[in-house]
Amino acid sequence: MVLAAATLAACAHEPTIERAQVERVISTLAADSMLGRRAFTPAAGQAAAFISAEFTDIGLERLHGLDDYLQRFTVSGPSSGNPMSAANVVGMIPGRRENEIVLFSAHYDHVGVGEPVNGDSIFNGANDDASGTTAVIELARYFKAKGRPERTLVFAAFTAEEAGGLGSRYFSQRLNPDHIVAMFNIEMIGKPSAQGPNHAWITGFERSSFGKILQDAVAGTEFAFDPDPYPQENLFFRSDNATLARLGVPAHSISTTPIDVDRDYHQVSDEVSTLDLDHLTNTIRAIAGGAAPIIAGDATPTRVDTAQVRRPSP
Ligand SMILES: [Zn+2]
Repeated sequence: MVLAAATLAACAHEPTIERAQVERVISTLAADSMLGRRAFTPAAGQAAAFISAEFTDIGLERLHGLDDYLQRFTVSGPSSGNPMSAANVVGMIPGRRENEIVLFSAHYDHVGVGEPVNGDSIFNGANDDASGTTAVIELARYFKAKGRPERTLVFAAFTAEEAGGLGSRYFSQRLNPDHIVAMFNIEMIGKPSAQGPNHAWITGFERSSFGKILQDAVAGTEFAFDPDPYPQENLFFRSDNATLARLGVPAHSISTTPIDVDRDYHQVSDEVSTLDLDHLTNTIRAIAGGAAPIIAGDATPTRVDTAQVRRPSP
């Protein structure tokens, strides 16, 4: 009887990914006041400050050698050559295995403000990629509540993805890629896929055993992970995962948006009102479930064959 009571108590405290938190976070990131979060602008700094505050609230640890969650870097401006600064936002949950890292990432930058369409000039980037950034924050909250993991978890909100993946490139140079066991890069999960709700797809599915591990982990649930249905779009190479994959990391993007027909992609209409927040919440929960055996050290994806990964286009 004592055991049963203890089990009940444990169940009552089992953390969950909550829709209300998902809605609060994505609504903040994609608000007009964030001015489209363009990298190298004060608006991006405002978004980074919000993500940092969430990481503080969650209780994430900072990377070794950093005073806060900001991983700052500078590049020279395209025309002036003057230095421009930007920052990734990175936090961690140390696991029992310090040098085996499971990375969850998304880019928090978007394209900013542009020509008005029907009086709206702000590219909110709710789906691209406030949805993924929200997932990273809520996965951090969930896994922190679950207690110390076996493998170390790193949560990265990258900047300057839209400017050519500069943030992820800087990140990849600051730690040993051989220590990254898996990279869950989360891109545009706010709209149900062409296969319907409760499906997500994985770019570069055949390049490692990452996707198969996720499929097995959610088998028996209502959710399924599929190979990327749009190979002609080259999505494996169009987000931050490619930078790490070129270093051999099983680094894949997880997405759900029907990119070939999506009317809001890189438009001022990419607003929270166009998203399905139940689908978004379910997808974050499925990613948490899919990652569980990797985090526990029970499964390890095969490495990406770097000889099979194209060089970046010039
Ligand atoms: Zn994106």
